[in-house]
This record gives sequence, structure tokens and C-alpha cells, in this order.
Amino acid sequence: MSVLEIRDLHVSVETDQGTKPILRGVDLTLNSNETHAIMGPNGSGKSTLAYTIAGHPKYTVDSGSITLDGEDVLEMSVDERARAGLFLAMQYPVEIPGVTVSNFLRTAKTAIDGEAPAIRTWIKEVRTAMDNLRMDKVFAERNVNEGFSGGEKKRHEILQLELLKPKFAVLDETDSGLDVDALKIVSEGVNRAQENTDLGVLLITHYTRILRYIKPDHVHVFVNGKVAEQGGPELADRLEDEGYDRYLQTADQA
Ligand code: ADP
Ligand code: MG
Ligand code: MG
Repeated sequence: MSVLEIRDLHVSVETDQGTKPILRGVDLTLNSNETHAIMGPNGSGKSTLAYTIAGHPKYTVDSGSITLDGEDVLEMSVDERARAGLFLAMQYPVEIPGVTVSNFLRTAKTAIDGEAPAIRTWIKEVRTAMDNLRMDKVFAERNVNEGFSGGEKKRHEILQLELLKPKFAVLDETDSGLDVDALKIVSEGVNRAQENTDLGVLLITHYTRILRYIKPDHVHVFVNGKVAEQGGPELADRLEDEGYDRYLQTADQA
């Protein structure tokens, strides 16, 4: 059992107009095998939370903490975070020219485990994971993210998730730009990773659609840089019916 804990997290970003506070006291506890959905209107700071957990240099932690089984995540480099068991699928994944998916996956696996995977079992694992995600074999020989469609990027993220076996995954808008079939395949991949490895999932999404396929244990509604309300899966159903207007009105009055 592992636990990812975020305590009273305040984060700001440097802009041309100066320092802009974005996260204003975020608290969240994510255990192994749990799925927490972070939902909220555009601009509420959801991606900022994901980037901060990932260690993106643009985001400054002003106060508060993030720990993984008591270890200070904020003190870790991006690589150390991955080795500690954090997986961050970013909203806009970068292209890596000249590096094939196959090489990228093996390099990442080697970096995370501290040793190269045994080649026969590794090839089998990659094939199985790709089959599960209905990915064509030739995909492994393409350069990472080069000319990937939206759906291919998402499948590639989930492929990494299945093969790298992290303790916690932060999935930011994994549902955006997917048709229903791709959404189902990607969701099945997340659910499979959870069943097989007790993965804890932080699922960041604007829309409730993906929550039909990945059932959250907890839902946190994010407004204006902090959690405005939390609850169980029923909260997502209510958001589907009512949207975020209610929270925004309250935020305006504050
Ligand atoms: P969400 O993912 O919920 O839509 P974001 O975390 O992307 O929200 O953004 C929250 C707020 O912070 C927005 O007002 C956005 O414009 C601002 N912001 C986020 N990142 C940056 C950045 N790198 N530079 C300037 N402003 C940013
Ligand atoms: Mg976002
Ligand atoms: Mg919760």
C-alpha cells in the first residue's frame, strides 16, 4: 500500500505580467488502488496541479507539501519522481525526434527499474500491451509523438502506464479528443493497470464522459485553485446534470 499526499499546496506561475498565484491550498490523499477524479471548469488550476506533481520548472511551490509514502516529492528531480513510482501523462505530450516508441519504452523501463528488462519477456509484454490497446505492431517503430493522432497519443500514454507499472498515475484530460471506441480502449487499459498493479489514479477531467468507463472512488471539484467540494461518484453524476455554474457563482461572490 502506498499513499500520495498533497497538503495545503500553494503554487504560482511566472508570467510576463509577474507572479500569478494559481493553486490556493490544495489537500488530497490518494491511496493505492483508488481512483480520484479532479473535475472543474477551464482555468481552475487542474493542469497546474498535474504539472506541479510532475515537477515542471515553470510552476513554483510557494508553500505546502507533496509526499509519496512520506518521501518529499518536491525535493525530487523529474527522473527521481518517475523512479519513485509517479507517472504523469501530460495534456500536450512532446515529440521526441529520432527516438522510436520501442526504444523509448525500453529506455524508460531501464531508467525506472535501474536495470534493463530481460529481452524475451519484455518483447512479449510489449506485444501483449499493444494488442490489448488494439495498437498495430508498426506503431512501435514510429518516432515518439511524431505525427501521432490524438487517439494514438493517448494509447501511447496508456501503453507506458501498462509497461512501466507506476504506483500512481496522473492523467490530465486523457479523454479529450477521443471517440467513444478509443475512450473505451484507453479506459480499459487504465482499469487493467489498476487491477494488475494496485495503481492509484488521479484522473483530471473537465467532462464526466470518461467516468462512465473509469469509476472514481472520490470526486474533487476544483474551482479557483482549490477543492470546492468533494464526494463520491454521485457528485460526478450531479455535475453531469448541473455543470459548474453553481460553483462559479459562489466563487464570484467570494
Ligand atoms: P485548467 O487545467 O483547470 O484549465 P490551468 O492549470 O491550465 O487550468 O490554468 C489555471 C490558470 O493559470 C489559468 O488562468 C491559466 O491561464 C494560468 N496558467 C497556467 N499555466 C500558466 C503559464 N505557464 N503561464 C501563464 N499562466 C498560466
Ligand atoms: Mg487543463
Ligand atoms: Mg478524495
